[in-house]
Amino acid sequence: MAAAREAVEEAGKILQDGGLVAFPTETVYGLGGDALNPESSRKIYAAKGRPSDNPLIVHICRWEDMSLIVREIPETAKKLGKAFWPGPITMILEKSDRVPRETTGGLSTVAVRMPSDPTALSLIRAAGGYVAAPSANASGRPSPTLAKHVEEDLGGRIEMILDGGQACIGLESTIVDLTEEIPTILRPGYITKEMLEEVLGKVEIDGAILPEGCKTAPKAPGMKYRHYAPKAELTIISGEEEAVVKRINALLKEAEKKGLRSGVIATDATAGRYGATFVKSAGSREREEETARELYRILREFDDEAVDVIYSEAFEESGIGQAVMNRLLKAAGHRMEMAGGAV
Ligand code: AMP
Ligand code: MG
Repeated sequence: MAAAREAVEEAGKILQDGGLVAFPTETVYGLGGDALNPESSRKIYAAKGRPSDNPLIVHICRWEDMSLIVREIPETAKKLGKAFWPGPITMILEKSDRVPRETTGGLSTVAVRMPSDPTALSLIRAAGGYVAAPSANASGRPSPTLAKHVEEDLGGRIEMILDGGQACIGLESTIVDLTEEIPTILRPGYITKEMLEEVLGKVEIDGAILPEGCKTAPKAPGMKYRHYAPKAELTIISGEEEAVVKRINALLKEAEKKGLRSGVIATDATAGRYGATFVKSAGSREREEETARELYRILREFDDEAVDVIYSEAFEESGIGQAVMNRLLKAAGHRMEMAGGAV
């Protein structure tokens, strides 16, 4: 669903005048401001309550617009642009002097993405070509995948929200740092390491985003914050299906005894087997992209239902499943246990 042309034109004017507009992208909704205007970037941080050392992604709509905002365009960037843009991948490059430090959180590098959502592309064009946009949630909340999520978090604090229906991927873009000799994934997303390696050859993953690396500082400043947090305490239970169902049901009984409201993130195959009022299926285990699309909506619904504790099954870490587990682990503050024994 694309937003009406008149609405996009009006939104473009608001951005040109230094205002803020939330808009749909194929990953999640973004909170846009003019990327070349330091005042707009300051407003984005203020509206979200986002720490100002957490840089914004600059969104463009034409390949040739890159040259104004980066110092040089390496071969790796050309290859990635050709293979995946417009699409859910963000490149980190050395910034030019035209990009204010306010937009890059004080860094000398800039994050650039060309989204594929048609409303996003028309808006960027109408705004003059450069739209800084982090996810359009209040800092610390799950990213918005529907316009109503943006309204819940930022309604009244920004000039306009463009409604483009449900974001089709549902998780934020893959971030790749191209300033190092070997391209490095700073945030996993829909475009996986395997897909990148087909185009670039060897690719590394920032050690800090691997499950065992949660103690070291990640290179994407935003990855150090406890993002995507639901209000309830979330615990992930991993292991073999039967053991997981048994363990979660035992935990639900304990929670009930304590008088706690509990929720479960299950799959189509297991949703009917839990004794809790709020059981939500994240789709079929065979289709990881369904889980990616539904995850943030589910976490937000649990907030509305005011549950105290959430137990989630773990998901396969293949394909986009790696990004799903990365976000789920962050939402859980890395609380994960193995059914049948602690992890
Ligand atoms: P969001 O758009 O809300 O998903 O946040 C943007 C993400 O991109 C955050 O995790 C930032 O830390 C990361 N990011 C943006 N610019 C840079 C940069 N120059 N270097 C490293 N990470 C960046
Ligand atoms: Mg975000």
